[in-house]
Amino acid sequence: MTTPASLTDRYQRNIEYLRLSVTDRCDLRCAYCMPEGFKGYEEPDHWLNFDEIERLVAAFARLGVKRLRLTGGEPLLRKNLPELAGRLSALPGIEDLSLSTNATQLAKYAEQLKRNGVSRINVSLDSLRRDRIEQITGRDCLDRILAGIMAGKKAGFAPIKINMVALQGVNDDEIDTIVAFCLEHEFILRFIESMPIGSTGREAQFLDLQPVKQRLQERFGLVEGMLPGGGPARYLKSVDGKFSVGFITPISQHFCETCNRVRLAVDGTLYTCLGQEEKFEFRPLLRGGITDSELEDAIREAISLKPERHEFREEPCKIVRFMSSTGG
Ligand code: SF4
Repeated sequence: MTTPASLTDRYQRNIEYLRLSVTDRCDLRCAYCMPEGFKGYEEPDHWLNFDEIERLVAAFARLGVKRLRLTGGEPLLRKNLPELAGRLSALPGIEDLSLSTNATQLAKYAEQLKRNGVSRINVSLDSLRRDRIEQITGRDCLDRILAGIMAGKKAGFAPIKINMVALQGVNDDEIDTIVAFCLEHEFILRFIESMPIGSTGREAQFLDLQPVKQRLQERFGLVEGMLPGGGPARYLKSVDGKFSVGFITPISQHFCETCNRVRLAVDGTLYTCLGQEEKFEFRPLLRGGITDSELEDAIREAISLKPERHEFREEPCKIVRFMSSTGG
C-alpha cells in the first residue's frame, strides 16, 4: 500500500492547498487591493495557458495538494474559466475546487461553474450600502454583486461564504447589518483584517477584529467551532449551529504556524508566502521542456523556500506587490 504523497516545508507544515490566480485583472479597484488607474498588469503571453496550468496543478496534486482555489484579480474575467474548472476538478488528487470572486460576473457563470466541479464559492462583500461599495471598490456595482450572490445561491452553492474586509472608520458601522444579511440568507460570514500588502494610496484603515469577535460572541452566545475548508479562518458558531462567523486575523492573531498554502500567480510565479517575497518561477521550466519528475523536484525545491511567517507588524511596508497579483 503506497503512502499518500505530502509536501512538507522546513517548518513541518503540510502544504495541501494551492491558491491559483488565473488573472491579475479586475473590474473593481478595492481600496486595500489595487490603486485606481493601475496599469502594471502581466503581459498576456506571460500568462500560463490552460495546458500549462493543468500540467502544473496535476504535479502539485501528485505531491499531495488536495485543495485548489481559483482566484485573481477577478477570476471570472479569465476567458473560458468554467472549462478550466472542469479540467482541474477532474485531476486525480484534487478533492476540493473552490472560487473566490467579487461576484460582479457570477450571475453569468454560476450554473456552469457548479456543473464543472466548483464546489464552494467565497464572495467579497464589504458593504450593503450602494454609496459605500462605490467608495471602497471605486465602482457603482452593489446591484451586480448582489445579483451574482443570489445566482450562486440559486445554482446550489452552499454554504456561500461572504468575506468582509473590516475597515476602521469605513465600514465597521455595518458589521451588524452584514451579520443580519448573512443570517437571513444562511451565508457564512467571515471578517478579514486588512493587510499591509502594496500601498494603494487609498483609505484602508486596519481594524483589530478581536473586540468585534468578543462583542459578537457575547451578543449571540457563540461558541468556538470548526467549518469545512482549509483556510485560516477561526470560527464561532451559535449553539443551534444555525449561525457561523469566521475571523481571519493575520495581524491581531496570525495563523502562520498552521499555514498549509502557497499561491501561484497568473505568470507561473509561485509565491510561497503572502507576506514575504520568497518565490519560484515555473513558466520558463514549463516552456523549457521539463519532464514530469523534474517538475515534481522543482515543486519540492519551491516549497523548501517557504518562510516561517509574515512580518506585517514588524515591517508593514515590506511587500510592495499588490494583492491583485497573487490573490488574497
Ligand atoms: S502570511 Fe505566509 S506563512 Fe502566514 S499564513 Fe499567510 S502565507 Fe502562510
